[in-house]
Amino acid sequence: MSDCIFCDIIARRLPAEILYEDDSAISILDINPIHYGHALIIPKVHCKDFLELPQNHIPGLFHSAQIVAQSLVTGFKLEGFNIFSNNGKIAGQSVFHFHLHITPRYEDDNIKFVLELKRYESGEMERCADVIRQHILQKT
Ligand code: 5GP
Ligand code: ZN
Repeated sequence: MSDCIFCDIIARRLPAEILYEDDSAISILDINPIHYGHALIIPKVHCKDFLELPQNHIPGLFHSAQIVAQSLVTGFKLEGFNIFSNNGKIAGQSVFHFHLHITPRYEDDNIKFVLELKRYESGEMERCADVIRQHILQKT
């Protein structure tokens, strides 16, 4: 056993309901689903969060996500689904091996993301964008 549940699942040291697997990613059912069919897309390389995900694993991971999302839509006749990822404890991450969640949505399913939306004060939007732009790393 390692100290990472998802690495142990990838290595078959722990059981999981595997939905899909290729060279770069594995997809399993979440053990505590928001809805039945709630899937996780997990890169095979260990990385704690989105920022640590090696660039060459990004296309494969999103390709896997699209394949699994399509199978959820077709299999459960979905009209919609959410894809999300929690990064950092403060954001709700509990397993520190990066992953995407894909969860089915249904009419009146009572799932609410309760958000209090803010308004930018005068000049704040530009200042905020400036901070981000100054820290954009050119990786290409
Ligand atoms: P996070 O909270 O990090 O965004 O998501 C981790 C997810 O992994 C949770 O939704 C949790 O239910 C799921 N999970 C934790 N341990 C296991 C496990 O042993 N097997 C499976 N299939 N899912 C797990
Ligand atoms: Zn891991």
